[in-house]
Amino acid sequence: MSEIEKLRIGTGFDVHAFEEGRELILGGVKIAFEKGLAGHSDADALLHAMIDAILGALGLGDIGTHFPSHDERWKGASSLEFLDWTHHKVKEMGASILSIDSVIMAQAPRMSPHIPQIRQSLAKRLELEESRLHIKSTTTDYLGFLGRGEGLAVQSTCLVRLA
Ligand code: MG
Repeated sequence: MSEIEKLRIGTGFDVHAFEEGRELILGGVKIAFEKGLAGHSDADALLHAMIDAILGALGLGDIGTHFPSHDERWKGASSLEFLDWTHHKVKEMGASILSIDSVIMAQAPRMSPHIPQIRQSLAKRLELEESRLHIKSTTTDYLGFLGRGEGLAVQSTCLVRLA
């Protein structure tokens, strides 16, 4: 297979509703905010979208197949566990992540002050140069459920090179 034929792209998308009394965790980093995200695990929508993008590129289904939300084992689990498992799969297949780009969509909180820390810690965890892991954020200009502050969404894209 030529080098170009070894390239695979994957996409991931995740949404969680905001809920009072939960911690807001994105990219494994705790973010000071009045609400957190509702979910079975820690509801880390950034990691969930990134994982789905990586799994898509590898052709390994989706996060719900591997970590079903009805499974008691994952109740309150840190999504970093899911990311580490996914990273292990990449290595097991002899593949490598070439780049991941994500966009966090939320009216609040303001994400940009937190992005450098999230980016640095995730790049380290995935053994990637920081230039290969990009994260950005946007609002929806007060439109829709995101604009009304009902939840947060993340879209991710990942490029991998297969063995
Ligand atoms: Mg999710």
